[in-house]
Amino acid sequence: MQVLGSGGPEVQDKRASTSYLIWENGRARVVVDAGGGSALRFGESGAKMSQVDVFLFSHFHVDHSSDFPALVFSSWFGDRKRPLPVFGPSGNKFMPSTTEFVHDLFSDPRGAWRYLSEMVEPNPEGTYELQPHNVAPTSTPVLVFRNADMAVYAVSVVHGAFPALAWRVEIGGKRIVFSGDTDGEGEGLTQLASNADIFVAHNAVPEGAVGVERRLHMPPSVIGTIAANAHVKQLVLSHRMLRTLGKEDETRTEIERRFPGPIRFANDLDCFPLN
Ligand SMILES: [Zn+2]
Repeated sequence: MQVLGSGGPEVQDKRASTSYLIWENGRARVVVDAGGGSALRFGESGAKMSQVDVFLFSHFHVDHSSDFPALVFSSWFGDRKRPLPVFGPSGNKFMPSTTEFVHDLFSDPRGAWRYLSEMVEPNPEGTYELQPHNVAPTSTPVLVFRNADMAVYAVSVVHGAFPALAWRVEIGGKRIVFSGDTDGEGEGLTQLASNADIFVAHNAVPEGAVGVERRLHMPPSVIGTIAANAHVKQLVLSHRMLRTLGKEDETRTEIERRFPGPIRFANDLDCFPLN
């Protein structure tokens, strides 16, 4: 599991915004989110979009989605010769659904980058085409995508009023779970993260956060409780923001009261092997 973007929305954190990549045997198989700066990190990682089997979105805040068109246009020059399935949440009045998001970007005649409308129109076999799908809200984990050697599950998580998903990728006998942005409410994320080999949780607020910060994100105590209840094997803290950077010792202490570790703080391009 490689972290392409370990930051949140702030550019002053000098980190790319949220994005993760799952490699298997030297091939980039899964991308989760594409926040600002992550397209550059994707290139630096050596990955190619032609290798990717599925693209997953946790939600459509800017810091999770704004480099998607950059990655797509970059890969237009590559050698991808098959459709790319894209999965993410359904919409509501605050956010587009995944199908709306992709069509708002690329469809003719209204899309911002409609000059790439070929990307979302039915194409002959053997061409690169984006195939967006909405995941209906679900309080328990559901299978969303499967191919010969991979299964991908999602569950809805609470992130204010914004439709949001946590993701689990099962590949090579391993389970990799991404919390996405959430306040940690409900049992779905704990179920999804059950026995995860790696649980990537978002360290967006410090312990004691209140108000809108706390309503959108989980403090370290909640991350530790979920990691412990789910018996995860390794915790990776990402989506680091100015309000949590520099507070790693306190964060670790709060989590270790509940979860024995190991706990790692993510930086851009860090790789977490699974052997
Ligand atoms: Zn975020």
